[in-house]
Amino acid sequence: MKKLSLIASALAACGLLATMAPAQAQQKYVTIGTGGVTGVYYAAGGAICRLVNKDRKQHNIRCSVESTGGSVFNVNTIKAGELDMGVSQSDVQYNAAKGMAQFKGGAYGDLRAVFSLHPEPFTVLSRKEANIRSFADLKGKKFNVGNPGSGTRASMEELLVAMGWKMGDFALASELKADEHGPALCDGKIDGFFYGVGHPSANIQDPTTTCGAKLVSVTGPAVDKLVKEKPYYAYASIPGGLYPNNPTETRTYGVLATLVSSAKVPAETVYAVVKATFDNFEEFKKLHPALAHLKPENMIKDGLSAPLHDGAVKYYKEKGWLK
Ligand code: GLU
Repeated sequence: MKKLSLIASALAACGLLATMAPAQAQQKYVTIGTGGVTGVYYAAGGAICRLVNKDRKQHNIRCSVESTGGSVFNVNTIKAGELDMGVSQSDVQYNAAKGMAQFKGGAYGDLRAVFSLHPEPFTVLSRKEANIRSFADLKGKKFNVGNPGSGTRASMEELLVAMGWKMGDFALASELKADEHGPALCDGKIDGFFYGVGHPSANIQDPTTTCGAKLVSVTGPAVDKLVKEKPYYAYASIPGGLYPNNPTETRTYGVLATLVSSAKVPAETVYAVVKATFDNFEEFKKLHPALAHLKPENMIKDGLSAPLHDGAVKYYKEKGWLK
């Protein structure tokens, strides 16, 4: 006690205490929930935080990212007040906003959209020796359906229903996390995995390089039906030659990655995050190749089904992007 008050008076004498105390009191934190460290959410969240932290003198907000189980986990954790923002697949955002599918228990009325990010084609990667030509060939195989809490898993379940398949149609339906499925594939523990992810991604680069893993197209009547019926799905493809040992285009379908928050998060916080991203947009696009083709005019509307957060609306109006 004595020591502390001595230090305090010494600091006060130097005039330090007076200048330090208010600044410390104002320091605010924002945490963005992402996904596995080898995915794109983690890199995209890192890019956003880097730009927020660069301008910290202006707003006194310290931004950090957390590696998480993915979209559904992020939305539920924002709802619990334990994350301020998170990345979520557009289908998961839709279901949470409307109280459907994995959110059947009730719509999450305080969910807020901030902006959308990169496209996420549903990506099926198979073990070279398993000779998988189409998704149908995976029946009776050892397949990773994604960890509970991931958007990947939620979308996988929707595809299985559309196909009339059950988890039991796989010899093994494993629930490994995204960071684990590549090594498991190359070790022969699984024959394939499903992953909703942006491209290019280190997560796909590693197994295509290390063990020549093959991308598998996800097409057919069930996919056509899903794309026709669900507003958040669109056809997508992974360009040939993007990854080693996969020279031809892979046709599939997918969603958009989106940034979401809660109405309970202050407008100043969300405004600072949005401003840092768009004021430094050229730099932002260079921070990960999956972000390279983003356009602000699409990011403020595509894939967003929850209402926009007030802090985002403020910035978009200032820019004249919203009336
Ligand atoms: N879309 C994935 C999910 O929600 C995460 C993808 C990533 O981390 O880039 O499970």
